[in-house]
Amino acid sequence: MGSTETTTKDKILIFGGTGYIGKYVVKASVSLGHKTYVYARPISEKTSLSKLQLHKEFQSLGVIIVQGELDEHEKLVTVIREVDVVISALAYPQVLDQFKIIDAIKVAGNIKRFLPSDFGCEEDRVRPLPPFDNFLEKKRRIRRAIEAAGIPYTFVSANCFGAYFVNFLLRPYDQPELILVYGSGEAKAVLNYEEDIAICTIKVANDPKTCNQVVIYRPQTNVISQLELISLWEQKTGRTFKRVHIAEEDLVKQAETLPHPENIPISILHCIFVKGETMSFRLNENDVDASKLYSDFQFSTIDQLLDIFLFDPPRPAIAAFEVLHIYFHFFLFE
Ligand code: NDP
Repeated sequence: MGSTETTTKDKILIFGGTGYIGKYVVKASVSLGHKTYVYARPISEKTSLSKLQLHKEFQSLGVIIVQGELDEHEKLVTVIREVDVVISALAYPQVLDQFKIIDAIKVAGNIKRFLPSDFGCEEDRVRPLPPFDNFLEKKRRIRRAIEAAGIPYTFVSANCFGAYFVNFLLRPYDQPELILVYGSGEAKAVLNYEEDIAICTIKVANDPKTCNQVVIYRPQTNVISQLELISLWEQKTGRTFKRVHIAEEDLVKQAETLPHPENIPISILHCIFVKGETMSFRLNENDVDASKLYSDFQFSTIDQLLDIFLFDPPRPAIAAFEVLHIYFHFFLFE
């Protein structure tokens, strides 16, 4: 990108930019020619080597890293005044900390668009089991506060992070003999590749058509059931996997009895892969579907996503769900 273009484009500040989805969003922002800022917790002796490397990588891309805590109100206001657009990709436990960002945006008074850390199923239109619903309720509270403050916003429903859930469902790095199927395996879900989610997010953050809108990422090519995903993976790998089903009643029972926060991932699996909530509502004429909005942009298909796993598999980042996998193996086979 030429420097003239960079300077005329909106400046973007990203919170949670060193996180799982955040790093894709930061790279997408840079690649689309935006001057990009990341507000990150200060480097200390406890900072991991991988995070240090990521900071270096960002700096080499020209990203401006502002080190600070979310409690540092004056610092937040100062950095927000330097930019046009704010995107939050903060982790789930920090969702309510976004009130601090909202307060700073109100004081700064210059922000053209704020995207809070949504990035999942459309939280205003799904009603999952209580552990996941309580999780989503925090995100809904943030949405309502943004609307009440009159901050221009876009709420992004990116649906499932594709590589994240392919890693979880198919476990390609493990070379398993069997694959767990949640419920019947027939409910449809939307899986989008993280790089596409990130590019689309930068596009919607700068698009006048998406101001004060919910944007849903639902490309037709990326709607798939667990059973179809397994069959496609079998075709690609030339292998055959035993399918072991976990009954819906068992998932519901576990969601009711496991302690918090272990009850959340199980409720997410139930919502997405048993109830099919990412596809459970129709898009009406007021809904914005990112895959229709940008004719110049093609989402990678699930077929292409699996090709990426065949040749250069993205690393799993599924700590919260990992506990569940161990749990289910124990539950089924011990
Ligand atoms: P991560 O867990 O990777 O964390 C993101 C960043 O949050 C971290 O890199 C860190 O940034 C910051 N952070 C973490 N702890 C703290 C803290 N104590 N104080 C301040 N900042 C902190 O986030 P994800 O990418 O997993 O999640 C981002 C969003 O995506 C969430 O809304 C989540 O619900 C959603 N999501 C959606 C999925 C889907 O399939 N649709 C799957 C997973 C998540 P730094 O160190 O730079 O300060």
